[in-house]
Amino acid sequence: MSIKIENLTHVYMEKTPFEKRALDNINVQINDGDFVALIGHTGSGKSTLIQHMNGLLKPTRGKIIVDNVDITASGVKLSDIRKKVGLVFQYAEYQLFEETIEKDIAFGPKNLGLSEDQIKERVIRAMNIVGLDYEKYRNKSPFELSGGQKRRVAIAGVVAMEPKILILDEPTAGLDPKGRDEILGQIAALHKAYDMTIILVSHSMEDVAKVSNRILVMDNGQCILDGPPEKIFKEISTLESVGLAVPKVTYLIRELNAKGFNLPDNIFTLEQAKKEILRVLKG
Ligand code: ADP
Repeated sequence: MSIKIENLTHVYMEKTPFEKRALDNINVQINDGDFVALIGHTGSGKSTLIQHMNGLLKPTRGKIIVDNVDITASGVKLSDIRKKVGLVFQYAEYQLFEETIEKDIAFGPKNLGLSEDQIKERVIRAMNIVGLDYEKYRNKSPFELSGGQKRRVAIAGVVAMEPKILILDEPTAGLDPKGRDEILGQIAALHKAYDMTIILVSHSMEDVAKVSNRILVMDNGQCILDGPPEKIFKEISTLESVGLAVPKVTYLIRELNAKGFNLPDNIFTLEQAKKEILRVLKG
């Protein structure tokens, strides 16, 4: 299962005075099992790009091939694409609508025509993975929950569809640090437990450093960098030129090295930094 994006251009309101080229000839392949972070400044084209991956937007030019099927071809059913590619929108909790959590999460699987038992199994599994106990929460209203918990219900609703590719648009936006870490941990667990390919839209370098194994950097409708975090975080001047920054801890390591420490230059999480600094101090 992969997504191949070929020469993708998207122009909003073409041939009007408001014309905007949001994507400019993107060529990217996302492979089975990738955990990709898609980063870029506001307006760089991230949302436009992900909405092409599950057929919500049609390209102005170019193709998107999901699992060897050209989803831009006529006759392709959107419902078939959505079974393979799940999309969790920004602030997805605003889309909760059922009277109980169980019903909300079961909504998608029901539309797949599964049996009651299969639906229940999927709901339990999805709730477990987002850290919500089934018996405790199933009959509660989603509206009784905290913001972070609501978001988890919304994520569970898409996870219960068991798509092979899961795209999450800023899933940690607006959460406190603890809530952010929990959601990120759960997304990492999903990647493993369901063997899902994950595409995580984020502008937090700290978040991205913790979980992804590949980073795509967008700027002005183009994909300007693509590689593993250790490679991308060495591109400090390019990142800064497009309004991004490397994780704060990477700057700290740079400062320490300027003052005579001899720390590796590929550190981008607090954990790695702690380990290396202790090693140098003890050594
Ligand atoms: P990001 O997700 O990185 O913030 P978007 O894909 O939302 O970027 O936007 C890319 C560009 O396209 C921006 O300049 C934005 O203003 C423009 N844009 C996004 N959606 C629309 C729309 N529906 N109509 C017109 N222009 C849009």
